[in-house]
Amino acid sequence: MEPLYSALNAVKVLRANVAHVFEVLKGGVRADHGEDGKDTKFLLEFQELATIVIFNMRFNLSPGIVEQTVASLTPPPGPFNLGNTTFLSQESTQERQALYSQLVHSYKWTDKIHEYSNLAVTLLSQNSLKRSYMNSSSAKRRRTLTSSHNVPPQTVDNVIQTIDRLYTDMNVTVSRPFASNAVLQITLGRIMKAVVAFKGLMIEWVVVKGFTETLDLWTESRHKVFRKVTENAHAAMLHFYSPTLPELAVRSFMTWFHSYITLFSDPCKRCRNHLLNSLPPTWRDFRTLEPFHEECKP
Ligand SMILES: [Zn+2]
Repeated sequence: MEPLYSALNAVKVLRANVAHVFEVLKGGVRADHGEDGKDTKFLLEFQELATIVIFNMRFNLSPGIVEQTVASLTPPPGPFNLGNTTFLSQESTQERQALYSQLVHSYKWTDKIHEYSNLAVTLLSQNSLKRSYMNSSSAKRRRTLTSSHNVPPQTVDNVIQTIDRLYTDMNVTVSRPFASNAVLQITLGRIMKAVVAFKGLMIEWVVVKGFTETLDLWTESRHKVFRKVTENAHAAMLHFYSPTLPELAVRSFMTWFHSYITLFSDPCKRCRNHLLNSLPPTWRDFRTLEPFHEECKP
């Protein structure tokens, strides 16, 4: 591949130089050649440019860079096998003759998709955050996971009520629009609202919005600050997730979420400012709950 690249590059340089020669030739004598001996000056310039082109091809008697690199290429052993695409040349209608380049384009595209999906599979198979559909062979693991998904609604309600009673400035209501799984609506003071979808006792999805916005599971907030908090809430739900202690996971998440009650009043722990890039500290440390700007995160 390397010789082909340098050969193509050499040809590109040659073409650019040749184009320059013709450009100058087309322009003829210019004002910057002055009055005295303008013809000679023009001829000298042309000669210089033509020499460069010759140097590209040949250097004195030895081959120049173009000839050298082209000579080093090995010709393909035979004609390329184009498969069924060869029949495209027999196409007589005008609009279908352009199909070949489109075909090559889509072939390249599928090739890339193939490559990227292979990479994605490798990455995802190492991903320890896989939660909902474990295909782990360990029976023990599967049992604990099932238990965090299939909890009776009463248990979920009890856990949520306990959390609700902990905070006077955070109001939690439970609804079950999708069969048995709970969806929480959390109102945090007059700061913000959130909708949290559960699967058993596992937090499956979170959307955070402003206090005056309408809540639903599918649309994001109009305001950047709450979109940032939503993003961080997703990170938090993955961080606190625990298949063996699902109750603790929910409680930790709620404690973390409650710390946003000071979203607009606490300064950043690092830069001590309230605003940075016109946003308050939207990040809360998972352990210490300290506020940080996105850019000031430890
Ligand atoms: Zn900061």
